[in-house]
Amino acid sequence: MATKSKLKFAKEYLTPDGYSNTSDHPACPAGVKMELLTEMVPKTAWGSNVRDHVKGSEWDKIKEWCYKRSNYNCEVCGQHGKLQGRRHRVEAHEIWHYDDVKLVQTLVGLIALCPSCHKSKHYGRAINVGDDKFVRQHLKKINKHWTWKNVFDHCKNAISLYQERSLKNYILNMDYLKSEFGLDVEIHRQHVEITDEHIESIKAMDKYKSF
Ligand SMILES: [Zn+2]
Repeated sequence: MATKSKLKFAKEYLTPDGYSNTSDHPACPAGVKMELLTEMVPKTAWGSNVRDHVKGSEWDKIKEWCYKRSNYNCEVCGQHGKLQGRRHRVEAHEIWHYDDVKLVQTLVGLIALCPSCHKSKHYGRAINVGDDKFVRQHLKKINKHWTWKNVFDHCKNAISLYQERSLKNYILNMDYLKSEFGLDVEIHRQHVEITDEHIESIKAMDKYKSF
């Protein structure tokens, strides 16, 4: 992991048990090896990310800031996309915190990830395009001490959490863009009706919980 640059978020989101950069693990002191965790954005929160709330030119600047801070290397595995035969060295990943009681989804940071680690962050998307096996293999490779059971349990839990959260609407908080970049953004998020069809589509993910 590059330590030369600011790496504000990488430090903030390391946890005592080695987990990191994820909405589901609280901040902890720096110096602990980061692990790669997959995440699934609740279905009710799809389509409202940073890119949808800022101008293209602003998003380009934010991404570049994120990449430079990490010295164009992945903040989890230290590699970059060129070594993986990809066009881009790194990609910007949004770190979210979910308050499941107050139902608030808060942007808490951005992290530079290589394309393989970034793909692994989005397990739901990987399932949709048939890359879920790749993601499980990558999780195993990066989190060296994980057993296959750890990998499967982690993916299963990510789906369960996705299913729970996808039945709720979260208020979107992106004050981070103001505090970090001075950007005033007008939040727009549509309330998603929890219809029978919606519930069915969430339940359908059960089939990906058995391996
Ligand atoms: Zn990586």
